[in-house]
Amino acid sequence: MPDRPFSPLELAEPAEAERISRQLLAAQLRYVRTASAFYRRKLGDGSGLSVENLAALPFTTKDELRKAQVADPPFGEIRAAAQADIVRLHVTSGTSGRPLAIGFTRADHELSCEIGARAYFSAGIRREDTVLHCLNYALYVGGLADHLSIERIGATMVPVGIGQTGRILDMWDDLRPTVVFCTPSYARHLAGAAHARGREPAALGLRLLVVGGEPGGDIPETRQVLQDTWGADVGDTYGLGEVWPTFAGQCEARDGLHISACGALWWELINPATGAPLPREPASQGEIVYTQLKRQATPLVRYRSGDVVQVLEHTCPCGRRTPRIRLLGRADSMFIVRGVNVFPQAVEAVLDQVAPGHGAFALLVEGQAPPPPIPLAVEVQQAPAGLASHIRSTVRSRLQFSCDVRLVAPGALGLATEHKSQRVFRTDLGQFPPGLVNLAGETR
Ligand SMILES: [Zn+2]
Repeated sequence: MPDRPFSPLELAEPAEAERISRQLLAAQLRYVRTASAFYRRKLGDGSGLSVENLAALPFTTKDELRKAQVADPPFGEIRAAAQADIVRLHVTSGTSGRPLAIGFTRADHELSCEIGARAYFSAGIRREDTVLHCLNYALYVGGLADHLSIERIGATMVPVGIGQTGRILDMWDDLRPTVVFCTPSYARHLAGAAHARGREPAALGLRLLVVGGEPGGDIPETRQVLQDTWGADVGDTYGLGEVWPTFAGQCEARDGLHISACGALWWELINPATGAPLPREPASQGEIVYTQLKRQATPLVRYRSGDVVQVLEHTCPCGRRTPRIRLLGRADSMFIVRGVNVFPQAVEAVLDQVAPGHGAFALLVEGQAPPPPIPLAVEVQQAPAGLASHIRSTVRSRLQFSCDVRLVAPGALGLATEHKSQRVFRTDLGQFPPGLVNLAGETR
């Protein structure tokens, strides 16, 4: 019998949840139209401002937010609450340009904690746990906001942050953590550091690894590698700084992520190329677009997330009735080989299986629809005979495209290991991994 979810709202009948969300959406549209100069301009005189008409309203893009904030820092005309009512300012990680400033009123903060707590509870964290929180606390929502969400469950939080690998391994036996919360790449990094000290990660007594901040935790092969390495269960979570810090989490079924922001988020699905609406029904795939509900400080309407998702079946063995999605990847890291959409996460899943323990990798693509074979450079400790051709044949059979595999030494690509790293490089735009000299895979 699965545990009851953190909030009874997660058990609400979808039709009832939809009815309440529609009311909140109507109220939110009126609020942003009145309170935010940005939306007053964008939404015109407010005629046609209705839930039924939502798909006719303009999208909000990250670029627009950036421009508005450059013109009038920190929040720009997006700000919809009085400065005096804003109690916190975070910035986005800025992986795709100038970071965005995100504001929280006290009510926004409360709601953020509640939504996040539902997701982390769903991923498996309980009040009896001691959690090492190993995401960046500086500025970014993944630090403090996620910390407070997990603390809301009642777990014992240890605010570790980044750059503390040696210290936490030194103190491990004194802290006796049961959960580590970090990115999938940091989980690999920490395991490597433990090995280097002669300690077996699986013998460290971890019960659960909760990952977030980058994709991987919802890809079975990637999760399996982490599970085997740590001898622990692995649960994935998802959020976007500018929307809600964390608003989706896997449940014990470990199959897709439940959106935990019931009553605080409206979502749509669109064709990323044309912007046309797509049905929100099982098997549907498209870019997910968000409108927060009840958000006061920096509310967004029809915000293009850039994340491509697949909608999963509504019913789930865990009993939650909330929508379940699978993240396929970023619309801007997707490329198309002979009509097949390819995301770097899918390539990573192949590498996790065929070359476990691999390091960073880079796909070099010439344009959005590059001609095969696609150069794929992979950092590996050892390159046993046949590894490159095994990767090539598995990519071809599993992902239906041919690649040209170059195996290089660890660190040779010059990509960072402790944070999000780029995996697709548009050579036609002059993008290249810092350590790579040419397409033949020669390194500096
Ligand atoms: Zn579930």
